Amino acid sequence: MFRCEICGKEADKHHIVHRCEGGLDSAFNIKYLCSEHHRGVRGPHRCKETDLRYKLELQKKLEATLNQKYYTLNKLSSILGISMNKLKRHFKNYKLYKEGYKTEDIIFILMGKKLYNEIMLEHYYEFIPNYNFA
Ligand SMILES: [Zn+2]
Ligand SMILES: [Zn+2]
Repeated sequence: MFRCEICGKEADKHHIVHRCEGGLDSAFNIKYLCSEHHRGVRGPHRCKETDLRYKLELQKKLEATLNQKYYTLNKLSSILGISMNKLKRHFKNYKLYKEGYKTEDIIFILMGKKLYNEIMLEHYYEFIPNYNFA
């Protein structure tokens, strides 16, 4: 049984970069949240600010972890705990250098082909179409 990272109650897996956004099944992309912290009003599926905050945390963690300029798929596969075949699909349109894939491309892909920054968190409602203030 998994425990909610916030309150310790029984938890489900949440994909920080959601599956529909291209999120992978890597442990990095998974956050354990109880039903309230997952699907409640302040949870990432209903609160864009929380969603964005978790994504920023993940991006920073990836930037800190992937501190080399290039990674081979083999190396990446062991860091992320994802099979080479699964990874290959995501990288097929990206340039492979002799040293491997560029870390900035890797992070971009892992974030669902998007990058996040703090400014978005301050103005998250401007970046999210149809965000409802109520
Ligand atoms: Zn909780
Ligand atoms: Zn979720």
